Amino acid sequence: MSNNRSCVHNENKQYGTCTICSKIKLGIMLKNEYKHLGLTTTVWSYYNKNYQTKEKIIAGMLRRFAKSELYKGKYNLVIFYDNYDNSNDNELKRYKATEL
Ligand SMILES: [Zn+2]
Repeated sequence: MSNNRSCVHNENKQYGTCTICSKIKLGIMLKNEYKHLGLTTTVWSYYNKNYQTKEKIIAGMLRRFAKSELYKGKYNLVIFYDNYDNSNDNELKRYKATEL
């Protein structure tokens, strides 16, 4: 966990996301017929945005995700979690595909 803009784990450094340092985690619930495609179903926020509020980070991730051609029409639901606590109780927001 870190509120700094840097990450010591160096995971996925190219994209600036980290399973530990990133503040927000996005779970993508694919439709059954697309589950075999090997699409990423978990996306972490950029840890250099950790200084921003959760709401602002979620809004940015949602905006980018909604534009994604790769996922268009392939999911039912997206759920945002607080990444600092991995329990499912920590759900922050959920959006149905039709709401994006
Ligand atoms: Zn890290």
